[in-house]
Amino acid sequence: MTAPTREAVIDRGAIEHNVRTLRAATGTREFIAVVKADGYGHGAVTAARAALAGGATRLGVADLAEALQLRAAGIDRPVVAWLHGPGADFAPALAEGIELGLATVDQLRRAAAQAGERAAVVHLKFETGLGRGGAAPADWTALLDEAARLEREGRIRVDGLFSHLSGASRDDDLAQLRVFEDAIAGAARAGLAPRIRHLAATGAAIDIPETRLDAVRVGLGIYGLSPFEGRSSASLGLRPAMTLRAPIAAVRRVREGHGASYGYTYRAPRDTTFALVPLGYADGVPRQASNAGPVRIRGRRFRVAGRVAMDQLIVDVGDTAVEVGDQAVLFGDPVTGAPSATDWADAAGTINYEIVTRIGARVTRTVTS
Ligand SMILES: *Cc1c(COP(=O)(O)O)cnc(C)c1O
Repeated sequence: MTAPTREAVIDRGAIEHNVRTLRAATGTREFIAVVKADGYGHGAVTAARAALAGGATRLGVADLAEALQLRAAGIDRPVVAWLHGPGADFAPALAEGIELGLATVDQLRRAAAQAGERAAVVHLKFETGLGRGGAAPADWTALLDEAARLEREGRIRVDGLFSHLSGASRDDDLAQLRVFEDAIAGAARAGLAPRIRHLAATGAAIDIPETRLDAVRVGLGIYGLSPFEGRSSASLGLRPAMTLRAPIAAVRRVREGHGASYGYTYRAPRDTTFALVPLGYADGVPRQASNAGPVRIRGRRFRVAGRVAMDQLIVDVGDTAVEVGDQAVLFGDPVTGAPSATDWADAAGTINYEIVTRIGARVTRTVTS
């Protein structure tokens, strides 16, 4: 069998380790592992299984379809899905025991109406400052009263209350926590007794203990990446789980002044060697990182030469003896000498979340343990 042309090697053991590490560090009763967006590009089912093995008690996703994908793969542990289009059909998810994050009276009523034998398990979402989804303070009472009524009828069960932080600053996050505490008090007054209150994603889960409550909802950290500028994965005890690499497809000796890729934004500064790497922006390699993104070949670090194209990019490897078939590593665990996803994010003017999440469908996921 020939090696895949483009490969993201996913280290299951790293995800398991990261969950175990973060679970120990946060000490919450529950740990919700977030595996939306195909497990941040790592493969949702792979990530979910590894997270559960590491001690996650629930899984979190945005869309109902993402939750159903986990069930279809045979994962029967609690899954909560929290982002729904207008008029979303909850019935298939409820039939599979998917828990719903809901924010409006209309959603609650539809979930109650679509619940079968089992009551729909619901997490009520509150807007505490981020400006995205969630019930606004003015709407809490109506939402909580309706939830309590439907719960008494046995149509729904309110298991959770949640909100999401901006991460703007510690003070901003603590201000959101105080607003969330008002929502929690309102739920008690309405006669609801939800078991898990959850607020913190990776950043707050690590840095702001007050926000941990009954459960943390951790995405980025379980994949071994740091949400903090200037703080590495290793400094948090985390191991990046994805290595993006491809075998060099062509090697070309060129004269000084030879252009590289579209627009000749790079020209060989001397006689040199161009190595062609079959990864491009269709695979999620950001074109913004043209002439900047780091690539490791034969134990040495180079940079992309010229523009990243749709399917490929060029690396100027100088006089290094590089051969077709040598592995070019774009990013991985820096402890191994590889560049990091964060290095690529810096080169592209974005965040590591976006780097791993956008790795395309054409890239083979190879799972290792
Ligand atoms: C994506 C998401 C998370 C996970 O965030 P990380 O920063 O990756 O840990 C948690 N909660 C909600 C509501 C999300 O949308």
